[in-house]
Amino acid sequence: MSFDINQLVRPNIAALVPYSSARDEFSGEAKVFLDANENSLGSPLKKWYNRYPDPHQLAIKEKLSFIKGVGVEHIFLGNGSDECIDVLFRCFCEPGKDNVIICPPTYGMYEVSANINNIALKKVPLLDNFQLDLIHLEDQIDANTKIIWICSPNNPTGNSINRIDIETVLNNFTGIVVIDEAYINFAQQKSFVQELADYPNLVVMQTFSKAWGLAGLRLGMAFASLSIIEIMNKVKPPYNVNQATQELVLTALEEIGQVNDMIKLLVDMRIALADVFLSMPTVEKVYPSDANFILVKIKEAKKIYEFLLTKGIVLRDRSNVQLCSDCLRITIGTEQENTFLVDAMQDWYQLNP
Ligand SMILES: *Cc1c(COP(=O)(O)O)cnc(C)c1O
Repeated sequence: MSFDINQLVRPNIAALVPYSSARDEFSGEAKVFLDANENSLGSPLKKWYNRYPDPHQLAIKEKLSFIKGVGVEHIFLGNGSDECIDVLFRCFCEPGKDNVIICPPTYGMYEVSANINNIALKKVPLLDNFQLDLIHLEDQIDANTKIIWICSPNNPTGNSINRIDIETVLNNFTGIVVIDEAYINFAQQKSFVQELADYPNLVVMQTFSKAWGLAGLRLGMAFASLSIIEIMNKVKPPYNVNQATQELVLTALEEIGQVNDMIKLLVDMRIALADVFLSMPTVEKVYPSDANFILVKIKEAKKIYEFLLTKGIVLRDRSNVQLCSDCLRITIGTEQENTFLVDAMQDWYQLNP
């Protein structure tokens, strides 16, 4: 059996006649636009925003196509990766019938989105080294398994998933394999975006929320084969990426050098902060990270979390998460913020010698 998009897409979506917006029905130049019931007089804002945005976000996609080396028609843009996740569920997973597989500990939205869409979730925990458990993964796949979600570098563990293992999944699973590369810019490994031609069942997700520093704008990317992208475009709300976001992201895309400088600095600070934590007396492990955060296994993690809160410092307490007992996830901050954290840890040790 091999990949067959018609076997994967939900029947109602295959049959769907998508919404046709005013800008779909007429997309050329004109003198007067009286077709979309916008307010032609303007708006209270100096920059009006009275017109609907481009539903296909072509300007951004053209720029991304150049940067990523993939065709415009292989790019889907969502209101954050979170929308890409939801759209994938709605395209391919029949509520009450289909299932997907996740590999915890991992990003929480796959499970939440599955629950919202009433899609059964199978969990195949990562191994102790936070790599894929290929044997149990294979066991869990059945005829109704539509998507396998792989997060690499993984959140909250920080490691990249072995490339060969991901290739094994891509080569042997006839459903869709999503690789969430939200943190790829901080990693040693190269992206799977370049492998789209080899894998019709591959979806690579990236985001402007992490390395690009634009979490507030909400823009996520999905790269995939033509047949997958076409279905995703049918399902998405017509104007899912707003005009302000489209304009601001276009401006940001001109500053790739600045972003690369920030990535270098964040990686350097990650390495430095990992070293500092490693030297602390109650730290049992600082897991190797390919992301802009570190996962630290430390005695009395929960108490330290609470103590740091009283100092105004908020970490992510992951101590209740499977395979992450006594673990805190620490985002790399500014130099000053990292120093503030390290100083606060010294206060903790002074009070708890
Ligand atoms: C932060 C993060 C995202 C980003 O989601 P957006 O909706 O694009 O902000 C996606 N996946 C993972 C694993 C993340 O940690």
